[in-house]
Amino acid sequence: MRLIFLGPPGSGKGTQSEFICKDFHIVQLSTGDLLRYHRKNGTELGKKAKEFMDKGELVPDDLIIEIIRNELKKKEYSNGFLLDGFPRTITQAEALDKLLAELNLHLDAVLVLNVPTEELITRLTARRTCPICGKTYHLIYNPPKVDGKCDLDGGELYQRSDDNEETVRNRLEVYEKQTKPLIDYYQSKGLAYFIDGIGKIEDIYSRLKAILDSIKKN
Ligand code: ADP
Ligand code: ADP
Repeated sequence: MRLIFLGPPGSGKGTQSEFICKDFHIVQLSTGDLLRYHRKNGTELGKKAKEFMDKGELVPDDLIIEIIRNELKKKEYSNGFLLDGFPRTITQAEALDKLLAELNLHLDAVLVLNVPTEELITRLTARRTCPICGKTYHLIYNPPKVDGKCDLDGGELYQRSDDNEETVRNRLEVYEKQTKPLIDYYQSKGLAYFIDGIGKIEDIYSRLKAILDSIKKN
């Protein structure tokens, strides 16, 4: 299956991606994780992305489209993928359509997670992230088994520099202005599925799984 996960920062895309990818044998591609990897390794791309990410602005479309072009051609995505955090603008969505047409591939669904703004702020300001695998936790709602350590690889959890309230508010505004129009874009193609993102993590996954099972059958 080839899927897009759409939803504001903090809506639970990363959290739910892990379950989806495991059950449906597809690979997650998170542009945010990729950019953080480049920053950590001090690449040219990482240096260019830093100033935008720190302000909660979007990294320019051409840089992101180039990353996706290179990634999606890799063999690891041949069984399907879940795009998490991409596309984020209409320009990116159009570039993705073009790339998929070149590769003779089609999208199966765009999953849209709905969570109200105040809840997003609460989730993001207490989010902790693993520097090794990118898995996220929440200090109260979704704590790790051992304080401060990733359940999967023992990585020392950290708070992302853009997960402070001021930057979070800007990221949410950027989402409203630049990314939300993608919902109409995909709805007009008959690909959008809406999921209530409030509730227990496992209940939200059940909602997602029911949708994906029904798509798989058809
Ligand atoms: P996104 O990838 O959409 O930015 P994350 O998956 O990183 O979002 O989740 C954002 C934060 O909210 C994390 O701290 C995560 O542990 C927490 N979280 C995820 N799902 C839920 C939920 N259903 N209820 C409460 N907190 C959640
Ligand atoms: P979240 O889901 O919590 O908003 P991400 O990890 O997806 O965070 O993204 C973090 C930052 O990386 C964004 O605020 C933006 O600066 C940059 N970024 C990630 N994906 C894209 C993209 N598709 N287009 C432009 N910028 C991006």
